[in-house]
Amino acid sequence: MLPMSNMETSIHRRRRILLHFFLGIGLPSLLLGYLAFRGIQNDIALLEKEQLNEHNTIAQQITNSINDKISALEEAFLDSIANLQSPQRGSAVLRSLERLKSRQSLVEEVFFFESAERIQLPLAKLLFLSSGSAKSLPPQPRPSALLLGEQYEFQQKRYQEALTSYKQAFAQISNHQAKAEALNAIARVQIKSNLFPDAIKSYETIAQDYSNTRMGGGMPSGLAARLELGDLFSAIDDSSSAVQTFIRLYQSLIHAEWELEKSQYEFFAQQAEESIDEIFSQDAPMQSYQSTFRMLRSEEKKQREITERLLTFQENAAPNLLAKVPRSMENSRNALRRFTLDIAGRTYLVSIPGEREGNGNEDNGIWGLLLSSEQLKANLLAPIIRQHVSSEDIHWIVKGRDGQAILKSDDSASGSMTVRANFAGNFPPWSLELYQQDPRLFETLLTSRRGIYLYMFVLLAGILIFGLTLTIRIVTHELELGKMKSDFVSTISHEFKSPLTSIRQLSEMLQAGRVPSEERRQRYYNVLLEQSERLSLLIDNILDFAKMEEGKKEFEFEMVDIGPLLEELVSTIQQQVRHEGFTVQAEIDKPLPSIQADRAAITQAITNLIDNAIKYSAGAKKVFVRGFTQNQYLIIAVQDFGLGIEPEEIDKVFERFYRGGDELTRTVKGSGLGLTLVKQIVQAHHGSVHVESEPGRGSTFSIRLPLPLTEV
Ligand code: ADP
Repeated sequence: MLPMSNMETSIHRRRRILLHFFLGIGLPSLLLGYLAFRGIQNDIALLEKEQLNEHNTIAQQITNSINDKISALEEAFLDSIANLQSPQRGSAVLRSLERLKSRQSLVEEVFFFESAERIQLPLAKLLFLSSGSAKSLPPQPRPSALLLGEQYEFQQKRYQEALTSYKQAFAQISNHQAKAEALNAIARVQIKSNLFPDAIKSYETIAQDYSNTRMGGGMPSGLAARLELGDLFSAIDDSSSAVQTFIRLYQSLIHAEWELEKSQYEFFAQQAEESIDEIFSQDAPMQSYQSTFRMLRSEEKKQREITERLLTFQENAAPNLLAKVPRSMENSRNALRRFTLDIAGRTYLVSIPGEREGNGNEDNGIWGLLLSSEQLKANLLAPIIRQHVSSEDIHWIVKGRDGQAILKSDDSASGSMTVRANFAGNFPPWSLELYQQDPRLFETLLTSRRGIYLYMFVLLAGILIFGLTLTIRIVTHELELGKMKSDFVSTISHEFKSPLTSIRQLSEMLQAGRVPSEERRQRYYNVLLEQSERLSLLIDNILDFAKMEEGKKEFEFEMVDIGPLLEELVSTIQQQVRHEGFTVQAEIDKPLPSIQADRAAITQAITNLIDNAIKYSAGAKKVFVRGFTQNQYLIIAVQDFGLGIEPEEIDKVFERFYRGGDELTRTVKGSGLGLTLVKQIVQAHHGSVHVESEPGRGSTFSIRLPLPLTEV
């Protein structure tokens, strides 16, 4: 019963201690932890709010400064057109607009239109005009010398005479167009007469002096002359001059030197390109020309796109503009109207400044600015946003009324939208949205100065967990020890009681003379001796243990001849247990060397081992005691064939108070001190004790004591 209640109280106490720990430390810590956690959460929320505010301000600043920039541009534009009223200042206005356009990269074009009229683009360098816009000239009277020359040339094939007539005609006539025609005829006949250098000179004159003079079909003379010139250089194998001529022609086309219709432009551009390509294919080493030509070609492509776009705008945008403008004009005098316009797949911001006082804009039509969205992005939005937002992972989108993206940052806008700001002023209903890639707030928290709280929280939690495990371990250990001690006391009292009872009973019987037969008496004496020896072994164990625990045990070393000691010990024990049917056998090597030892202590250690071997023999009533030397050690091994020890218990059997097996079903008596003492004694002799055991087959405990050096 005693161990049972012992166990219960121990479990009870353990629970109580843990409960106290939990109430006193765990609960407050949990509470503190929760508060800290809430604190951190609040902090995160605060950080988020701060970030939102910051973004709001940034977005507002961005839209404001974009508005300011465009307003400033419009002001400058208004300044430029302010002088329109006086007609003689017209070209000055154009120059000033030209300057504005070249300074302000945002301006793709300046346009002008009067009510339903076609839109005009006074500054645009269009490569060509839309079809039907080229002027055709009225037929001119042809001078007689020219007609005579043609007769010589075509009918009679008398080139010399033809040339003279043409030259006469050229000298006589003053009309520019006719002069150019005569020069052309001169050059033509010079070619027919193989006078190539002369022909070249003639064409060069046309190209220089009559470049823009229209011929009969409305074609500029200079253009055809340059083409002829190039062919002429090719014909006389001067490919370098030929390339130069064609490239210059091409360049002039790109710089819109002549007003051409689309078909005309395309014809000449194609002619020039093909001629140049042909020369390159025959004459490879013209590196520098080749690269110039490549550059010109890409320039041409760009210009052609712009031209096409502006023509589309010019042709189609008028109704669209008109629908929006009148209202704006009525609304306010200084109104600046802006709206989005899609032209051939591109979005433009159109700005139509209202009138200024005294400007009288409405009388002269309407002026406006075409701002390309690409330029807006590259030259206005991106730089301004970069100025305000340093972080790399913020993206932006400008959206129109229907939520369609008009402009956006280069990197796709992933992450979540943090803020949206509407453009102010005269902007169309555009809004700017800022996106931030995953806010990574936790990371920010870790690196910010607030991170200290988080670190403290983690540290606190760490310390608490460490403290808790430490306490549980200590408490458990102490409780186990306490339980062992109380077990020990109860077993010991039990151990004392039964031999004492039998000693008392037997001695009483002997004293009262109630044992008549000598043989019986002799048996009783044996039992008395055995029991008292058992008691004294127990007492020795307890006393020695107490002394060793306190460090007071003193060993008296002397030379001990282990062989005879073992034999004597074995035979004494054999005597004592023979009546129970035990055989204790000794196998002792002879001679066994003497060693420095405390005789009594060593005897006690060996006795404990043999005692255990008998106690845990479980019916296998045989014990072997061996003494031998091995590798400078003296070995005393005690082997039994009994219960054996479970593998998981092997390490514990030498612990203080440890008793193996199940506490409740345990029948063998003991104190849990025997092996502890064996270990302590052997260690005091600088030796060691080992055990090999197999459950159900028995155990072998061996003491290894070092031999004195002289013996080696
Ligand atoms: P006690 O024998 O008094 O219980 P010990 O310290 O001598 O205490 O032994 C501790 C435990 O080791 C024992 O309770 C027993 O379970 C185990 N033990 C010791 N010797 C043997 C043995 N020869 N065979 C099996 N088990 C043993």
